[in-house]
Amino acid sequence: MLTTAPRGTKDIMPTDVTAWRYLEETMRKICAQYGYKEIRTPVFEHTELFLRGIGETTDVVEKEMYTFTDRGERSITLRPENTASAVRAYIEHKLYADPAPTKLFYMGPMFRYDRPQAGRYRQFHQFGIEALGVPGPNIDAEIILLAVQILQSLGLKDLKLKINSVGCPKCRPEHRVKLQEFFKPHFDELCKDCQSRYDRNPLRLLDCKNPHCHELGEGAPSLEECLCDECKAHFAGLKELLTAAGVDYEVDHNLVRGLDYYTKTAFEIQYAPLGAQSAVCGGGRYDGLIKEVGGPETPGIGFAMGMERVLLALESQNLLPDFTDAMDVFVVCPNQEHFAKAFKAAIDLRRNGLKVDYDFQGRSMKAQMKAANRVKAHYVLIFGDDEVARNQVVLRNMANSEQKEIAISDITTILQTEVHEG
Ligand code: AMP
Repeated sequence: MLTTAPRGTKDIMPTDVTAWRYLEETMRKICAQYGYKEIRTPVFEHTELFLRGIGETTDVVEKEMYTFTDRGERSITLRPENTASAVRAYIEHKLYADPAPTKLFYMGPMFRYDRPQAGRYRQFHQFGIEALGVPGPNIDAEIILLAVQILQSLGLKDLKLKINSVGCPKCRPEHRVKLQEFFKPHFDELCKDCQSRYDRNPLRLLDCKNPHCHELGEGAPSLEECLCDECKAHFAGLKELLTAAGVDYEVDHNLVRGLDYYTKTAFEIQYAPLGAQSAVCGGGRYDGLIKEVGGPETPGIGFAMGMERVLLALESQNLLPDFTDAMDVFVVCPNQEHFAKAFKAAIDLRRNGLKVDYDFQGRSMKAQMKAANRVKAHYVLIFGDDEVARNQVVLRNMANSEQKEIAISDITTILQTEVHEG
């Protein structure tokens, strides 16, 4: 146990970090294009924030939160998602006083006590967007386009964008009644959770993970029939903008998403080859959330993208670039008597911006040359006895095996030119 990471977590090893950084950089670049600014909130918050902000009848709150009492007797929860925290920060720092919209993005670890499997972990990473303060469908379209642009610019094809409208507090009550009528004859067959959700929040019955509940939900009354004029117009506006931008989408009336605070637009982007965990990105509008958490009535919309899932998709399609992290120079010094000179040369090169490595253990010439190959060094500097006696060293170009003698005092100047021109 001591030597394995807790179930559902994993180390991101140096060989994988390059892919993570590539993904993060792509996300940051596209956020800058769209004018979204990064926010970093704490990884834990008061439990109450998630109870209010996610909803007490959701799977996340009912079964998946890492909640504990801290030494000051406060109930604390490791964030299972970042929207509630971003909204809390928006209120705490009075960002609503700035001109709308407030456009935020985040990336970082989230924690859910989920059943671990491929693409589902207990500590996982999300990249996400929150756009606060604008009620119309144009911002809904913008964030969907941002998500699609990220995935497409990474080279992913065959993505499926599903959209729906989950209505608003005006039109949902009618749907709620219809849903209860629909499920009533099957009440006894529903799972325990759904039985308790039947009264509290019947919309949740539509996205229960229990396969039998899922079957029972087939043919359930669609929210579309109940949408009020405002929600209908909003949904039509979104569809028009997506069409204008040339983005394909599919309307899916069963897409209700796992969190309680969604109003109007809900969407998901799926990448089918990932199988059971095909959702790479999900989001929606949450016009009631900011008030619920204690702020002024403010509309908002956001999404979260599972970074592990995007990486799995990129890997499965061989879309990760070749990240060769070669060293510029390897300093070889078999005779420890010259080590101080070799060390000084290495440090000077590093101070001048080059990537430099050397042998720490005074091994043989052969072993040190092997080490130079291992780090894919472009150049090797050899501090041999004869050369050092003449204040010279051998500079070997590893690409073409050409060697020349250079003065120790010229090492930095010569190598800077070679590396930058080579
Ligand atoms: P959600 O916050 O549940 O809407 O999830 C948004 C996205 O985060 C999903 O589409 C997944 O890509 C990712 N995600 C959610 N839960 C997990 C998990 N346990 N492990 C890995 N990725 C996850």
